[in-house]
Amino acid sequence: MAGIYLHIPFCKTRCIYCDFYSGTNEREIDAFTDALCVEAALRKKEIGDERVETIYFGGGTPSRLQKKHFVQIFEALSSEYQIAPDAEITLEANPDDLSDNTIGELRTLPFNRISIGIQSFDDDELKFLSRRHTAGQAENAVKACRKAGFENISIDLMYGLPRQSLELWQRNIDKAIELNIPHISAYHLIYEEKTRLYLMRKAGKIQPVDEETSNCMFSLLIENLTKNGFTHYEISNFARDGWFSRHNLSYWQGKDYLGLGPAAHSFTRQERSWNPASLKRYIEAMASGTLYRETESLSKEERYNEFILTGLRTVWGVDLQLLEKRFGQELRRYAIDNAQKFIDAGLLTVEKNVLKLSREGLFISDGIMSELMWV
Ligand code: SF4
Repeated sequence: MAGIYLHIPFCKTRCIYCDFYSGTNEREIDAFTDALCVEAALRKKEIGDERVETIYFGGGTPSRLQKKHFVQIFEALSSEYQIAPDAEITLEANPDDLSDNTIGELRTLPFNRISIGIQSFDDDELKFLSRRHTAGQAENAVKACRKAGFENISIDLMYGLPRQSLELWQRNIDKAIELNIPHISAYHLIYEEKTRLYLMRKAGKIQPVDEETSNCMFSLLIENLTKNGFTHYEISNFARDGWFSRHNLSYWQGKDYLGLGPAAHSFTRQERSWNPASLKRYIEAMASGTLYRETESLSKEERYNEFILTGLRTVWGVDLQLLEKRFGQELRRYAIDNAQKFIDAGLLTVEKNVLKLSREGLFISDGIMSELMWV
């Protein structure tokens, strides 16, 4: 088993672009924590004696939990699972939750990696996105985490915001480099249906950036970070040597993981499952000691699609020999036949039996991947 993901479905307030499952009723945190510990025990047999190499607290905003909740969760996890002594244990945190006092408490817990949801170092952009923190708080949070002894720090940045200029995006990148952060995830803003942002666009109140600007922003990101010693190891992720996210890597390498909490997904090579997105029903189900999830078996072709999607996203690409071993000659041929026009156009490369996106291919990765999918 590669890892355990825990979905913490609470946020102090909601951001306008976000469609992750979370709510703002923090009075439910105690009951949720009890339920999470029950689920950890109920699903122990799915892992058996395998060692847990990574644990990831995501959400939502896991930093809304108090020390007592984390202590309870870690006690449940360590009594049910064999956690590797060098396991990577990540907490997603919002900058405004990271007071000196909270960071001090986090240092007493098993966390060894902090992923901070910064999004921007510009106050106007943060306000537009309805983030609760300021640029100053974001910078202070990074410095305070490092001062307290957290070395493994990641930040999230967002680009492609309406009216965001290339200069402003460049300033955000410069600030991230200046802060000497070892891992950066950068995502283009997406207009997810049912979000406030989507409705603002529909009502004509905001205009998305044009494609050319989006591409320039992605170029700026890649150029600046690679020039400053980062490896662009996944479409949206950059790390200095030795600081890749082990947990996320296991997703992209198709390893198994267990997802606990409402809306959490789990994956094994044969099966995908997910807990429905309802905190109320999750708590009720765990109180009665019954699992609350939906499962689908993956056909060979669906597993092939996962293999292509996750492999092409990374700098390590798709190992064609492994593809053939797992899915047979026919699907290897299918992948190569569909890849050929992109190889000819310089958008994909094949070297030593490994298929990869070229630098140019990164810009239209979704289109390339969908053409390699089995339909
Ligand atoms: S972006 Fe993060 S903090 Fe904002 S609503 Fe989504 S999960 Fe909550």
